[in-house]
Amino acid sequence: MKFPRSQKLYQEALRFFPGGVNSPVRAFGSVGGTPLFIKKGAGAKIYDEDGNSYIDYVMSWGALILGHAAPAVIQAAHTALKSGSSFGAPTQAETALARVISGAIPSIDKMRFVSSGTEATMSAIRLSRGFTGRDKIIKFDGCYHGHGDSLLVKAGSGAATQGIPGSAGVTRGLSRDTLVCPYNDIASFRQLILKYSKDIAAVIIEPVAANMGVVVPEASFLQEVRQLTSRHGIVLIFDEVITGFRFHFGGVQSLQQIKPDLTCLGKIIGGGLPIGVYGGRKEIMDHVAPSGDVYQAGTLSGNPVAVAAGLAALAVLKTKDYAVLDQNAAALCRGLDEHFKGKGVPVTINRAGSLFTVFFTGRHVTDFKTAKAADTKQYARYFWSMLQHGVSLPPSQFEAQFLSFRHSRQDIRATIKALEGV
Ligand SMILES: *Cc1c(COP(=O)(O)O)cnc(C)c1O
Repeated sequence: MKFPRSQKLYQEALRFFPGGVNSPVRAFGSVGGTPLFIKKGAGAKIYDEDGNSYIDYVMSWGALILGHAAPAVIQAAHTALKSGSSFGAPTQAETALARVISGAIPSIDKMRFVSSGTEATMSAIRLSRGFTGRDKIIKFDGCYHGHGDSLLVKAGSGAATQGIPGSAGVTRGLSRDTLVCPYNDIASFRQLILKYSKDIAAVIIEPVAANMGVVVPEASFLQEVRQLTSRHGIVLIFDEVITGFRFHFGGVQSLQQIKPDLTCLGKIIGGGLPIGVYGGRKEIMDHVAPSGDVYQAGTLSGNPVAVAAGLAALAVLKTKDYAVLDQNAAALCRGLDEHFKGKGVPVTINRAGSLFTVFFTGRHVTDFKTAKAADTKQYARYFWSMLQHGVSLPPSQFEAQFLSFRHSRQDIRATIKALEGV
């Protein structure tokens, strides 16, 4: 497989975009080489500008659980668009989508639509600060919550440490207010809470972590996080931007029977169009302007085309059997695992439903530290050889692979066969 046209288009893009892309991971920085330019998608497949096709396991980073160009979603967006692309005024469809979301995730009494997951988490943090009158937040090492300043902080060395900025341009003041704790480490979490409890506005967490590769919460970890935050009057924010509607028609919170105070959603709920939402307990949400004094706004918030696409996507999803998705993912992971074991290549496959990561390490991966033990050079080789065999994987060891309802058993067999050719 050759990519001359993608390579040429990338050179042209470099003229206008930093690193040639509009979001960093697209640049293939951690696997080397230059990115594919995608011309179209259909179902489980994508097609690049050179005419090559691939079984896709990125699926717009999880947004496309119904596959590329899902007919019902395209149709709904098209119909909405014909009536106007944006009004800057309320529409009935926003309430309809809110009703579906609140019905599926009952902890969300009230909500606010925004245009991305980043906006949702950023706004939820501001709201938590406004609601509690406190400044600090706790996030978990390796969890990604979009690129809001307060959230671009990674852990320094040590188990539980005050944040140092994970990006230039984030002020020391903001990073001082972001405390970082290892995922699945309830002892460190408890220590942080006891030390800073009066100053902590919010704890934000991915209830299944999917941005350091997939890391699942250990039994009772989320429950203990909930208990400690409740006890100290700290707002618990579940960032379900990836996990919302991924494992069933709702959030991880219902599966784990935990009620966070606020929830952030994005990706799947827009059917591939730009949308996000944050919402939760009424008494907290009523602090958002115009009913309260925490300001947050958006020209394109609740955009009618995105809302129509989201409504259509959720209507289709509601009829789907998630058990099939889970079985397909299990079959794929089993096939991959058997192959690697057979070749004597140590891997750890972490999977939650249709979300999984092949870590090139023989050790358990339970947090960012153990994730980082994976051999990223080997992942890069895996990535490129699979691409050569017609399978598109995320271009980083630390990202999840996503299955959609359009990945067939045949796609899965073809993927395992591709690996055998690698
Ligand atoms: C993708 C993601 C975000 C950010 O969403 P954008 O729409 O990219 O801004 C936030 N949180 C999690 C868990 C995500 O996976």
